Amino acid sequence: MTVRTRFAPSPTGFMHLGGLRTALYAYCFARQNNGTFILRIEDTDLERYVPGATEVIYDTLRGCGMTWDEGPDVGGDYGPYIQSERKDLYLPYARQLVEKGAAYYCFCTKEELEERRAAAEARGEVFKYDKHCLSLSKEEVQAKLDAGVPYVIRLNAPTEGESTYTDLVFGEMTFPNDSLDDMVLIKQDGMPTYNFANVIDDHLMGITHVMRGLEYLSSTPKYNLLYEAFGWEIPQYIHLPPVMRDEHRKLSKRDGDAFYSDFIDKGYLTEAIVNYLALVGWNPGTEQELFTMDELIKAFDVRRINKSPGIFDINKLTWFNAEYIRKMSPEAYLEKVTPWFDRVLAGKGINYPRLAQLMQDRTEIFSRVPEMVAFLGQLPDYDVELYTHKKMKTDAAVSKENLEMILPVLEGIEGWSETAIHDTVMAAIAAAGKKNGAVLWPLRIAISGQANTPGGAIEIAWLLGKEETLRRVKDGLARLS
Ligand code: GLU
Repeated sequence: MTVRTRFAPSPTGFMHLGGLRTALYAYCFARQNNGTFILRIEDTDLERYVPGATEVIYDTLRGCGMTWDEGPDVGGDYGPYIQSERKDLYLPYARQLVEKGAAYYCFCTKEELEERRAAAEARGEVFKYDKHCLSLSKEEVQAKLDAGVPYVIRLNAPTEGESTYTDLVFGEMTFPNDSLDDMVLIKQDGMPTYNFANVIDDHLMGITHVMRGLEYLSSTPKYNLLYEAFGWEIPQYIHLPPVMRDEHRKLSKRDGDAFYSDFIDKGYLTEAIVNYLALVGWNPGTEQELFTMDELIKAFDVRRINKSPGIFDINKLTWFNAEYIRKMSPEAYLEKVTPWFDRVLAGKGINYPRLAQLMQDRTEIFSRVPEMVAFLGQLPDYDVELYTHKKMKTDAAVSKENLEMILPVLEGIEGWSETAIHDTVMAAIAAAGKKNGAVLWPLRIAISGQANTPGGAIEIAWLLGKEETLRRVKDGLARLS
């Protein structure tokens, strides 16, 4: 048997992290079995149509290194792969089920259903469609159809007994049949519901393994009734627990932590997101945490998917991100960091390649870069308390004295290079019989206005250029007087 998996997102305009993880697992599973990974766009809910949303799906998956073998834009033998383009094929299948007695036409209006729902709720019951239209005779049904009365087609679910199936993650699942409702298969507008289309399409596309969110676990017995009514083989099911913020809270659009794009905007690397996401809900059974896509494909094991919700810990993601940033080539880092430098340093004449060298190991998330380098563009206002440093043996008075000593030394440097600055400053410190820290610390504070900087006084002085360095040292002296 050739494994065929699919990722079947609805085009909502955003890629939820949970969805992305489903795609990743389905992709890894297909690849490790030399199978086929299929992309199907589930857009039968026309009210929810968002322009450009399919492109978001394509770009995200490709950007994450997942390519599909069959799908809307690449074709394949089982197309079309966009459900709205398949809309005419579902109704005949629903009619077949009606013929077999596994489904039936329902002409109840919205108002009638609402009334019965309200009555059921008033009795303290959960409303479930009451099979009202199942009792219509063939002739009555035909007469209504001929008269053009709007209808839906519903599943005729059994009300007694139990349904059982095996999920590869959750094991044997048994549901009492009276918990199954006569779900709608074809809506009034002629479109299939997800509940119907997923079965038809998974069958027609030869899907062997269905991976999807846990919310479908309890509907699956109803899908199995459809497979059985058609006499089709039921696929293997792999339901995945949700990706959550913590035990109680979901990731949410409002908190800006639900979508892949939220994290890209915050300056996380795709590779870090994908790597971490793989481990949210699955573990390799070893200590290994860093995985390339190829390594993931090899290591992934459906049997090691957790049953409990995956907790998406942003601090852990940040750790992965920093690891990936450290592993980037200097060129790749420079390219990635440049727009973040530009936010605060555009037009300031700062040497980006050198700054990038100083920043790469200190970068955890790109969105934090601007605040870390902004001082190069503009000296921040700062507290003179910063000059006091116990270990460096400085306070305001010592700092003033040492800045006064070093200012003319800096003024005298010809050819502003890091080596020249370094050698000249160090020689002057030695000649004055001072401790390095007692001069370099105040110098760093004066030219950066902060205690934590990428690089030390020498590197910063070089990045700022001679003129700006002198200006800032004088500014520091003024603050200290
Ligand atoms: N279109 C469904 C969703 O986005 C997919 C469920 C499935 O994979 O079958 O939730």
